[in-house]
Amino acid sequence: MAKVEYDLKTYICQHMSAEIGTDIQKAAELLIEGKVVGIPTETVYGLAANALNTDAVADIFRIKNRPDFDPLIVHIADISQVELYASLFHEKAVKLAEAFWPGPLTLVLPKRNNIPFSVTSGLDTVGLRIPRHSLTLELLKQLPFPLAAPSANPFGYISPTIAQHVADQLGELIPYILDGGPCTVGVESTIVGFDKSFNPVIYRKGMITLNMIERVVGKTQVFTHSQSNPQAPGMLTSHYAPRTPLKIISSNDNTNNFSNRTGFLGFDAYHPLIPQNNQILLSPSGDIFEAARNLYASLRILDKLGLDVIYCSLIIGIPGAEALNDRLRRASV
Ligand code: AMP
Ligand code: MG
Repeated sequence: MAKVEYDLKTYICQHMSAEIGTDIQKAAELLIEGKVVGIPTETVYGLAANALNTDAVADIFRIKNRPDFDPLIVHIADISQVELYASLFHEKAVKLAEAFWPGPLTLVLPKRNNIPFSVTSGLDTVGLRIPRHSLTLELLKQLPFPLAAPSANPFGYISPTIAQHVADQLGELIPYILDGGPCTVGVESTIVGFDKSFNPVIYRKGMITLNMIERVVGKTQVFTHSQSNPQAPGMLTSHYAPRTPLKIISSNDNTNNFSNRTGFLGFDAYHPLIPQNNQILLSPSGDIFEAARNLYASLRILDKLGLDVIYCSLIIGIPGAEALNDRLRRASV
């Protein structure tokens, strides 16, 4: 792998690969020093730093090559901490937090002044979440500050779901990756904000579905597509993409010119006209949760095969498939 030239004066670890381990203490010490550390969550691995330290936050953006208009989610340990960072924790937000935290749901609330505008990309709201991962919850409990943590991948590329994915792409730029095993959910959190009347709006789809949210707080709008100046840049269409072009076809499509340089990402069945060596099934038993856990790792494997094109089909008629179909659409060209 080519050595990355990176001008980060604070990083003595340049040109060395990050240590991967399970030492919460070590992760905590580095974060207290203002360093950026890879952390596990149930959704995807995060690139974490002290959310209240603007230098540390700036390093997250540099390491990811993330545009400054894309706000970071702030991770907290306990629901009682919401009011430290949000100026208003209204009834519907409380209900959603109580129903789904710790878990793959981010709530967008009016921010307090202690959250830097660099974290929120200038917005006066902050995305807050309690992740459901024992190592990271333990880490958050030990820290005297919350953790800003976007997904630990270069901007626009596939999100990481094991520690090694983080090391492969960002290992030379960070000192430590806390290894919490494979992510149990596998796609990014559902992001819910609120309109002026405090009615919920889904900004990004996740494994906590519209149905699940409406059961708790009633009628919810979905507003997840925006080309420019997005409320939630998880809305950007070209997100989460492999380098090899990914194209969506209908599952019974046989009009394409398939070759031995064609790949296929299937849900539960192989494509009959594509070489099976070039195919991965997300869940042979048709389990949507297993498929979500396998999505990004499978895209990475197919991407490494150096194929001309990877085809996939949207998952039809399976409850809970919205988030996967959303990510497939965004990753496709
Ligand atoms: P990532 O952690 O890489 O999945 O990215 C975090 C995402 O959270 C951003 O891309 C936004 O979609 C969303 N987000 C964070 N803070 C806010 C906010 N204040 N308002 C709207 N969306 C937010
Ligand atoms: Mg991301």
